[in-house]
Amino acid sequence: MKDLKLAAASPDGERTILEVGGVRIGEGLVVIAGPCSVETEDQVIRTAVAVKEAGAQMLRGGAFKPRTSPYAFQGLGLKGLKILEKAKRETGLPIVTEVIDTRDVSWVGEYADVLQIGARNMQNFSLLREAGKSGKPILLKRGMYSTLEEWLNCAEYILAEGNASVFLCERGIRSFETYTRNTLDLSMVPAVHAESHLPIFIDPSHGTGILGMIEPMSLAAVAAGADGLEIEVHYDPPSALSDKNQQLTPAAFAALMGKLRRLRAFMDEMGSAGAGTV
Ligand code: PEP
Ligand code: MN
Repeated sequence: MKDLKLAAASPDGERTILEVGGVRIGEGLVVIAGPCSVETEDQVIRTAVAVKEAGAQMLRGGAFKPRTSPYAFQGLGLKGLKILEKAKRETGLPIVTEVIDTRDVSWVGEYADVLQIGARNMQNFSLLREAGKSGKPILLKRGMYSTLEEWLNCAEYILAEGNASVFLCERGIRSFETYTRNTLDLSMVPAVHAESHLPIFIDPSHGTGILGMIEPMSLAAVAAGADGLEIEVHYDPPSALSDKNQQLTPAAFAALMGKLRRLRAFMDEMGSAGAGTV
């Protein structure tokens, strides 16, 4: 892919493994789970304890929410980050949280182990540069109207600032189809593996917006060789302040984790996990 220097696949096919708080991203299957938004301490801690018990390796939760409406819940900001910090103390799970403003990158980085750049900000070049300068691990989601080349070039912006800790997450794109919230493009797993050395995750929650599709799409992502998944889990989805229709209960998440582990073990046995190059 032209113009890619640091994000391009290495000639020998070697893939990058990132180490974040003891979790190796790009090796085995890494699952990031937790609520869409940080709402209360009780909500986050209860969910965090449950996802950890089910085998998640990292905790997600938004303290700054990029909402379609300015009147919708915007997140708790600093208060939310302090709740995430407490959840990390209680569970040991590293924290993944979104940053939406260049002015917030450095101080949010004091609470987060991984800074997430969301779909709506994928091509916010000042934010990408700040994220690069921060030196923090960055989870870069795919913009909903972006090509693979545009997405990898955004990773390049971060890498070009000297920050080598970048991993990607496909979360669905806009298409003519309105049945699902977005059209989850699972073909990006082998495509990213072919064009880049960076790890690739799948977010089936925003990718479909439909509860019953989280499990089949998660299994399909693992079958395709994804390095990880980001899944929304809430201990009481109907009460969620955002994305209540796509958050799994802890029990459903635990059942899914059991299946994912079995599928991944089968893939490893076949010697095909993470293969997926085209
Ligand atoms: C999220 O993961 O909280 C989120 C807002 O996702 P996306 O940027 O993919 O819409
Ligand atoms: Mn969400």
